[in-house]
Amino acid sequence: PQFCYIALMKNNHHVTIPAPITSTANAEVKFLRALHERKYRRQSGWFLAEGTRICNEAVALGWDMHRLAFLAGRDNETHVRKLLDALDRADGRALPMSEKLLQRISRKDNPQMLLGAFRQKWTDLDAVTPDLSRPWVALDRVRDPGNLGTIMRSADAAGAKGIILIDDCTDPYSVEAVRASMGAIFNVEIVQCNQSDFVAFTQQWTNQNGQIIGTALPASVDYRDADYSGALMILMGNEQAGLPPSLMQLCTQLIRLPMLGRSDSLNLAVATGVTLYEVLRNRR
Ligand code: SAM
Repeated sequence: PQFCYIALMKNNHHVTIPAPITSTANAEVKFLRALHERKYRRQSGWFLAEGTRICNEAVALGWDMHRLAFLAGRDNETHVRKLLDALDRADGRALPMSEKLLQRISRKDNPQMLLGAFRQKWTDLDAVTPDLSRPWVALDRVRDPGNLGTIMRSADAAGAKGIILIDDCTDPYSVEAVRASMGAIFNVEIVQCNQSDFVAFTQQWTNQNGQIIGTALPASVDYRDADYSGALMILMGNEQAGLPPSLMQLCTQLIRLPMLGRSDSLNLAVATGVTLYEVLRNRR
């Protein structure tokens, strides 16, 4: 995007801090704001992450930050300075601006004082192999970005290696999913595939002694009685429809979480969290 430097001020970072952006018509502001839409995230391969802690963790994990939008005047604060150095390494741009403009980009009333634009990373399905110490999670057509973000957060916390998104899933790089992941998006691998590729992949997985543990309401095995040995793939169903028979039949075990009250199912992210922690408990 075109960018007009009104005045250039040199400082002790290598990256140049331009004069604060003041206009909503600024091309960089418009571009960052457009990253709320999947179409522009696809076109650019970028996504937004908010907050100083999360952006610092991302660069510490080696992610490339291409833009840093921050509250003008804060560039000498230690945590901002570290990010400016990281920006320099990725040949990125520093974008100081007013709170009003940060609000406009984040589309939130009380925005974080800092936002980063990072390049998305996707892992190939071919690169996924059974790992005894770290389970994988596969999600069938997950629709809710809040659920997906929460699942990334729980997966990261429980030591899972990554998440496979089967068929038409919500975008893990949407602002809502990234927000709900609380930074976990930077520490779990993300794979996207269609159902037929997933079916072919599960053949290899089970040939290499990997297990696929599906969670489903009609299952007869209580999750506390399941066998969690070997490398594990936890397979979760869609929020409305649950797992279709075509995916259930791939599973080496199907488990259910007891429902003792009035509801007939748990929220998808809660069911994933409980299952992952049961795996962890069995790994002690
Ligand atoms: N109406 C859907 C059904 O019949 O499966 C409910 C789907 S539930 C909200 C979303 C997913 O969370 C399910 O596909 C399953 O993977 C998991 N899940 C939720 N509650 C569960 C339970 N009690 N036992 C096993 N899996 C459960």
